[in-house]
Amino acid sequence: MHKEKVNLLGFSHESLVDFFQSIDQPSFRAPQLMKWIHQRGVIDFMQMTDFSLALRNQLSEIAEVKPPLVDECLLSPEGTKKYLIKLDSGSMIEMVKIPEKKRLTLCISSQAGCALQCTFCATGAQGFERNLSAAEIIGQLWLANFHDESSPPISNIVFMGMGEPLLNIEPVMASISLMQHQNAYGLSKRRITLSTSGIVPEINKLANKTDVSLAISLHAANNILRDEIVPINKKYPLEELLDACKNYLRNQSKRKTITIEYILIDGVNDSLNHAKDLVKILKGLSCKINLIPFNPFDGCHYLRSQESNIYKFKDFLIKKGLITTLRITRGDAIDGACGQLVGKLTKSVKGKNKKNSINLINTR
Ligand code: SAH
Ligand code: SF4
Repeated sequence: MHKEKVNLLGFSHESLVDFFQSIDQPSFRAPQLMKWIHQRGVIDFMQMTDFSLALRNQLSEIAEVKPPLVDECLLSPEGTKKYLIKLDSGSMIEMVKIPEKKRLTLCISSQAGCALQCTFCATGAQGFERNLSAAEIIGQLWLANFHDESSPPISNIVFMGMGEPLLNIEPVMASISLMQHQNAYGLSKRRITLSTSGIVPEINKLANKTDVSLAISLHAANNILRDEIVPINKKYPLEELLDACKNYLRNQSKRKTITIEYILIDGVNDSLNHAKDLVKILKGLSCKINLIPFNPFDGCHYLRSQESNIYKFKDFLIKKGLITTLRITRGDAIDGACGQLVGKLTKSVKGKNKKNSINLINTR
């Protein structure tokens, strides 16, 4: 019977050491293979010239290095590039490459769809399909670096694509270990951001597992509103979530902060009273706030906050001493902005939100 080949793309250093041991090879084969795959982009064992021919043949028989397939790429006028990726199971996911002045950020997916149903999120509206494997998560970074040969390497990763990373923790951790490993992508902890809607028990366990930057999708500063727009809040209310954030920081080196993400939705969470509540609940937490004007998508009745309200909200937080930035909305024209990722090429919703459309400036 034909035995299925094992896909080594998502194997962490430790798993590769075990794999090579299982075929009576020394552990130093692990870093050798990692460099071929993740630093040189080589996935054909036959081209791995520091392995003997016998080993190359053996690896070709029992294993493979198989990234997911890019189905389509869309480029927005300002340079953001969205990739539609087809998984083996037929599910579609998306990743977005975002060029900025000094960095090239990749926004990656951790699940196909999402079960958490936040009311402002296109992925949530789509529902949950399945968890991604480590190969499918790190495969996105591999594709971003090696699919377009002319593109510079990715410098920053944000887990802000499709899915809730803390509900798929093991593959996410395996892929983070490759992102950070010196024989793979060698990215520092500051260059990797895990964004979560607030899975409190996982945040509490996280400090023992990783030291990457943490972003919390807060979006509301009282439980009544948060229960409504981020329904996981009913299970893990604000008080518990903020305690978990403090816990995470306690275990980190000094000067560490958490990013609080706050979408601004017209008439829902964008008044000065909401801003006051936000200041109140964030007291005592070392954090910076990232305000994200809501990105509209088909089938969602919310509107982006009025420009004047966005600035009032931001100025109030700054006056109260909170470090606050406003995220430029990028990739809007290709539905590649936050929360517009739905794993299919949707019609552009440009113009839908014209009433409140604004040219945001980068305040970072
Ligand atoms: N599930 C994780 C990570 C993916 S969502 C989380 O919720 O944090 C990544 C970010 O995009 C989150 O901050 C999320 O709240 C935000 N987002 C979702 N839908 C959005 C929309 N329509 N407009 C702007 N931001 C959105
Ligand atoms: Fe899931 Fe995050 Fe979207 Fe909420 S915002 S539905 S947690 S992907």
